[in-house]
Amino acid sequence: MASVTFAGVDKTYPDGTCAVDQLDLEVEDGEFMILVGPSGCGKTTALRMIAGLEDITAGDVRIDGVRVNDFDPRERDVAMVFQNYALYPHMTVYDNIAFPLASQGVRKPEIRERVTRTASLLGLEEHLKRRPRNLSGGQRQRVAMGRAIVRQPRVFLMDEPLSNLDAKLRVQMRAEILGIQQELGVTTIYVTHDQVEAMTMGDRIAVMRKGVLQQLGKPQELYDHPVNLFVGTFVGSPAMNLFAVDVEEGGIRLGDRRLDVTTPALHAYVGRQVALGVRPEHLLDPRAAGEGAPRIAGEVTLVETLGFERLVHARIDAAPIVTEDVLEVAREIDDVVAQHADKAAVARNVTVVARFAAETDVSAGTKQEFALRPDKLLFFEIETGKAIA
Ligand code: ATP
Repeated sequence: MASVTFAGVDKTYPDGTCAVDQLDLEVEDGEFMILVGPSGCGKTTALRMIAGLEDITAGDVRIDGVRVNDFDPRERDVAMVFQNYALYPHMTVYDNIAFPLASQGVRKPEIRERVTRTASLLGLEEHLKRRPRNLSGGQRQRVAMGRAIVRQPRVFLMDEPLSNLDAKLRVQMRAEILGIQQELGVTTIYVTHDQVEAMTMGDRIAVMRKGVLQQLGKPQELYDHPVNLFVGTFVGSPAMNLFAVDVEEGGIRLGDRRLDVTTPALHAYVGRQVALGVRPEHLLDPRAAGEGAPRIAGEVTLVETLGFERLVHARIDAAPIVTEDVLEVAREIDDVVAQHADKAAVARNVTVVARFAAETDVSAGTKQEFALRPDKLLFFEIETGKAIA
């Protein structure tokens, strides 16, 4: 086991693309660290630099305090698990898992013992004689994990290992990978563009955008205190609702309503427009909220009944926020959402999503009031995206 450090790391590809820009990141011994961000943000490049598969343009990568920039991949004692599994199709499961040991010249009895132990950890004992093509996607992914585990490396590097699996299997494998990592205690750096995976798996999450680390923190810290609009909208599903609001003395104006909500930091913005972020669970059914909670009104466009809760979509007469920060995230989540955001900008209204209790009586086509949790509101500068806190 080992710590992994990026100290002022840059990566510029020969064609001039700057994939990683001044990355400083310290992954602690035994930690499960997630690198997350939209496609092209540099997360895979960062991972490959640890593995020794990409040269480092500037700065240092250290494993357990030792600079490894010039080390051969084999000398780094790290194991990588890829999205496409990279199994040898002509070899059995046993031989695939045994491969790294055989190529290190480990003796056969020890290989047998380690492969057996690994297979039992992964529930693969019954499949050892099969070939990868005869396995399900989840089983193949387990074999790929097995090949990494059997080496007993100091660090696991995982690049979107679950992205080829269907949704149900992903959830199951998420839990399995976490369980194995906790059992083995090996420092793990896990790349994903899926914020749900990031939130549920990481001890800490590093959010990247365009090669630049945006925020590093525990999942709950990122959710509750995003440093900017990009992180705020990237983290959370359904995404945070956003409105442009005018800051007044002692309150804000949202559409045609004046709301008596403010924060100490907001005083400096009186007379200016800022972005207000409201998580779906902080837009409440007024019947469930306390007296005097600030309210907004809208027209319900859709109700999604999920059994344990209802997601209420509504159109609010207020100015939307459609800066590049927000659109980039919307495109990543769903093109339809992005198009919707563009249209909303023209129509000057906002479609919100609120989480209501399952038993709430609410239906599409009706007017609905929403109460805000004043202590949970997030404010951001529109021009810079920076959190106002
Ligand atoms: P994805 O989730 O799509 O894999 P990522 O966040 O892992 O994205 P990288 O693969 O690290 O991103 O790529 C970061 C940037 O570097 C992108 O703009 C990409 O196009 C560019 N890039 C990656 N590999 C090369 C290369 N060999 N030569 C030039 N540019 C590259």
